[in-house]
Amino acid sequence: MAQLIPETFIDEVRTNTDILDFASQYIQFQKKGKNYFGLCPFHEERTPSFSISEEKQIFHCFSCGRGGNVFKLLMDIENISFPEAVLKVAQDNNIPIPSDLQSSTTSKQEKLKSHPLRQAYREVSELYHHILMVTDYGKEALNYLMNRGMTEATIKEFQLGFAPPRDIVYDFLLNKGHQPEDLANSGLFINSNSDEKLRDRFKNRIMYPISDNYGNVIAFSGRTLRDDSDEPKYLNSPETDIFNKSKTLFNYQKAKKNLRQRQSMVLFEGFMDVISAYEAGVKTGIASMGTSLTDQQIYLIKQATSDLVICYDGDNPGIKATNRAIKLLDKKQQFNLSVVLLPDGHDPDDFIRSYGSEAFVNQVNGAMTTIDFGLQLLQRHYNLDNNREKNRICELSCELDCA
Ligand SMILES: [Zn+2]
Repeated sequence: MAQLIPETFIDEVRTNTDILDFASQYIQFQKKGKNYFGLCPFHEERTPSFSISEEKQIFHCFSCGRGGNVFKLLMDIENISFPEAVLKVAQDNNIPIPSDLQSSTTSKQEKLKSHPLRQAYREVSELYHHILMVTDYGKEALNYLMNRGMTEATIKEFQLGFAPPRDIVYDFLLNKGHQPEDLANSGLFINSNSDEKLRDRFKNRIMYPISDNYGNVIAFSGRTLRDDSDEPKYLNSPETDIFNKSKTLFNYQKAKKNLRQRQSMVLFEGFMDVISAYEAGVKTGIASMGTSLTDQQIYLIKQATSDLVICYDGDNPGIKATNRAIKLLDKKQQFNLSVVLLPDGHDPDDFIRSYGSEAFVNQVNGAMTTIDFGLQLLQRHYNLDNNREKNRICELSCELDCA
């Protein structure tokens, strides 16, 4: 396929692309002298050694030694071939791709070669989305989402879908050219003991795709349509070759792109909060995948921004979780942290539905410092106008510091 891309087109893409613009989708940079520095995306580090020369249009990491032009950067980040990288950069920059190249990129076998599992998740995600949007199967689920106030634009943006009540995915993927042995370990199926047949893992569920740090779908969370069902309300994909929970943050890639509009990322408890907040206009929301924050996730956030707002549920478990998150993040001492404490025990989703988008954006914009958050919590239990109670608080904070 490499020979299929003419040099003239490669040159056209390269000259019309700014490597700094492109890399800024993935990394936060600071200018030092002529060059720009950020944290290397290929390993963990505390001080930035990944540099970009705008003048030469190349990157170089002084720590791991990787370097090259914009195509090499994309090849390494997304683990794709040179021709794929050229076409992806062209697409991102709205550079028209010659029609003969377009057809070669859609050739089934070519696409499958690099990452059959990624390809499978992308195709299944498109299938579920199609079923939700245009088929009778999806009607009830679509109504449910719309009744919750979700717009079509948001449903499309997050490529929400619907898994119908019968087995469809296995045959669908076989027809797309996938191999049965790849599908067995894809996480998309369960083995029914009786006949050794692979059956769809997700049935009769609203499907929320989960993407990796570069926006590729790598897993799903499926929600039951009715709350009275015997099934667990949420069902998640198991970990696979491409899905590692502790390294994944919901909506990370989009949030990173949207840092141009809002400087800080906003950390939520669950992905539903991220979607509601997105619809309300807070587009830099992220959520960990049902676990407390891992070191890898904290590192990912740090790569993108130093400003982080914690916006968990306003009830007691949410406040405890906020405290835990503050401790975890403070230990790293790399963030400007602030906290949103929603009133009356609201979670972000129901706060937005009760008080509207504007009120929610105001809450996030008015996020308080972690010290004010601590004081607010104390005020709930102690009268700060009373000297004896103030003393008690000082004693308590000493005990905490010593602990
Ligand atoms: Zn490096």
